Amino acid sequence: MRFKYYAPTTLEEISKLKEEGGLLFAGGTDVFVKMKAEVLNPEVLIDTKKIETPGVKCTENELEIFMNTTYTDVIKNDCAKKFEPLVKILLEVGSPQIRNRGTPVGNVGNASPAGDFLLATHLLDGTVVLAPSMREVKVEELVSGPGKLNMGKGEFIYSVKLKKLEGYKTFYEKVGRRNALVISIASIAAAVKLNGEIIEDVKIAYGSLGPTIVRFKDLEEEMKGKKLTEDLIEEFSLKYQARINPITDVRASAEYRKKLAKNLLVKAFISSMQKF
Ligand SMILES: Cc1cc2nc3c(=O)[nH]c(=O)nc-3n(C[C@H](O)[C@H](O)[C@H](O)COP(=O)(O)OP(=O)(O)OC[C@H]3O[C@@H](n4cnc5c(N)ncnc54)[C@H](O)[C@@H]3O)c2cc1C
Repeated sequence: MRFKYYAPTTLEEISKLKEEGGLLFAGGTDVFVKMKAEVLNPEVLIDTKKIETPGVKCTENELEIFMNTTYTDVIKNDCAKKFEPLVKILLEVGSPQIRNRGTPVGNVGNASPAGDFLLATHLLDGTVVLAPSMREVKVEELVSGPGKLNMGKGEFIYSVKLKKLEGYKTFYEKVGRRNALVISIASIAAAVKLNGEIIEDVKIAYGSLGPTIVRFKDLEEEMKGKKLTEDLIEEFSLKYQARINPITDVRASAEYRKKLAKNLLVKAFISSMQKF
């Protein structure tokens, strides 16, 4: 395999090379696997790691993760730990080696429905800053399907911003075929805010159950103001099961995935009923 390798030092150079058809990589944990499997055969590879960024910027309410920042950089950041359930999710990505090399921005760039960080962005109201213009777009508008990013040919992700969930109980679970290095069959990230027994707010995002991360905001709205009871959990977990439309692949059947969608939601709600 022959390709040209560039390691630009400015955002403008990256943009120009990308516009001409070059493929970006940061950690390369997706790109090189796909190149080895001959799924990708780029003529030009653009290594972004010469771009210096602040790494992680964290304030009371907002966490910004820049390009080239690894999972380990984020996991080690004390302020990022307050953006639950982010660090819990990141600790489930790959292995220590993958977390030392792979980047959250690359996870959004890969746009896989099984992407664990991508799942977190849907729960934490994620937006991306696109270089070189620095325009801001919601992640759910950027990613529209497997590997599909709605952005210009010369655009790329400079950073991802996440909002903190205040007063929520959060839940995350990933189901796979083994315990380590799991690509999920299904995953859920959920956040429930209760006022006594009343659901004040709820957010539920699923991974690996559709062409991208799945969230049904109309069902979330329907639950608001209702009492969190076993009957309500049963009613809505069945509604989610009916609405989810996953595929059958080598990892699991569609039917099994639909059952998982229901059971994971029940677990998320039961965990939210437990006291802080
Ligand atoms: C053994 C193994 C286990 C894994 N386990 C998991 C797991 O548990 N969960 C999980 O979610 N993923 C997993 N992955 C996938 C991968 O590690 C992650 O998706 C990681 O976040 C990719 O980051 P990266 O920097 O290595 O991306 P790269 O491979 O460098 O790039 C990935 C994609 O993003 C694009 N890209 C890179 N930078 C940018 C940018 N700045 N703007 C726009 N697009 C960009 C690239 O062109 C490419 O399409 C695993 C991979 C391996 C090999």
